[in-house]
Amino acid sequence: MRAAGRRRVIVLALAAITAFNGTPETIRFEKMKLPAKVYAAIVALAGLGVLSAPDLAARQQHFEFVLHDGLHDREVLHLENALEASHAQVMEALGLKVLPVVTVQVWRSEDAYQDQMEATFGSRAPGSRGYVTGPTDVRLLLHSMPSASREAVHEFAHAATLTLNPDFGNNPRWLWEAAAQYLAGEFFDPKSTDLFKNGQCPSLDTLNSPFDRGGSIYRSGYLLGDFIVQTWGAEALPQLISLNGDTEAVFNLSENDFERQWCAYVQTRHMQ
Ligand SMILES: [Zn+2]
Repeated sequence: MRAAGRRRVIVLALAAITAFNGTPETIRFEKMKLPAKVYAAIVALAGLGVLSAPDLAARQQHFEFVLHDGLHDREVLHLENALEASHAQVMEALGLKVLPVVTVQVWRSEDAYQDQMEATFGSRAPGSRGYVTGPTDVRLLLHSMPSASREAVHEFAHAATLTLNPDFGNNPRWLWEAAAQYLAGEFFDPKSTDLFKNGQCPSLDTLNSPFDRGGSIYRSGYLLGDFIVQTWGAEALPQLISLNGDTEAVFNLSENDFERQWCAYVQTRHMQ
């Protein structure tokens, strides 16, 4: 990644974290370092046919976990399993043949997690639970909420989109979040928010705003991804990501027309 591009990704990622206020994201990946005894046990299970050798190889290939604060492998196993389970689907949805190994760092201490964020971005983001700094760096704060595994996949999806387009971070923000939410399967029922009442939908301008502390993109992103794929096919999402959300170039639609068609889709499909 070029230096300028990297700076922008970091700045934009920080904006995203800040705007997420209240339901912060946290994502990190590490390679799982298995204690010798555990590894020996897995090899033994593999020998018995309980685990296949390809499974073992796959576990070591896609994510490298780096655990902080005395975390034990077993405490992040659910995250690793969710990430491995999502890997092929995320890659395919983005039209990628390969993805680099993604490092997933996990903290237990919120203070230590925030310290690292401050060292990286120059400021803290209270409430954040995950972020990415590039295509191979995911950072997560361990928590016990049921959403933890899905949030890890969300951050991995962000990282994967940066492999497709290194300048994609929050550029534009609406598609950056829409892609991650769609790829992580984070459906949000539009009937459960006022955003889509009375035939209205949030504008892309609103969804792009770093000052939108209500985080309306987190209640709209999946619906945008779903609209794109259902209307133009699976290839449309990576095409739009590659061109930073240029609806004119990919769909021959102005942003206003794209907004109108998306709104009609959501109203017809989900609000009747
Ligand atoms: Zn996100």
